[in-house]
Amino acid sequence: MGKTGEWGRFFPVSLSPFAYNETPAIEYYPLNKEEVLGACLRASRQGWKWHDRKDETTKNDKAIPANRLPEEIGKMPDDILNWIIKCEATGRSFRIIPQELKFYRQHQLPITHFHPDERHRRRMALRPVRKLWNRQCAKCAAPIQTTYSLDRSEIVYCEHCYLKTVY
Ligand SMILES: [Zn+2]
Repeated sequence: MGKTGEWGRFFPVSLSPFAYNETPAIEYYPLNKEEVLGACLRASRQGWKWHDRKDETTKNDKAIPANRLPEEIGKMPDDILNWIIKCEATGRSFRIIPQELKFYRQHQLPITHFHPDERHRRRMALRPVRKLWNRQCAKCAAPIQTTYSLDRSEIVYCEHCYLKTVY
């Protein structure tokens, strides 16, 4: 390993069982298929993989657009487990599994209208940007760093004031 230059380095990407677009890397460093697979031109990306995912459905599957699902979980028949739901935002197909249906019923929640990937994308979009701003604590005016920029309306405390206020 010392002779080939591998010693002391992180594991090579060729050992990863996942393709680039299946890892969180694509969320932080977005690349398209061409950029990943064309990586053979760039030695630093050699061995990178891409996996085209297909939503597996058959012609015999019963499909229902998400916007036609009953609003109330109490009106949801068990038969929904045999249906494919079409995502309201992307049109992609997804299923509800028994454990999920049980959870929704237990907590009186409506069945989601969105494909799991779309739900993940929306959750990620809610996170603040990966940048720190210098601000002052809104209570004691101590200098702090925060992901909340100065023009945001949230009240931001230093750790000490936050903990004192919350606990
Ligand atoms: Zn403070």
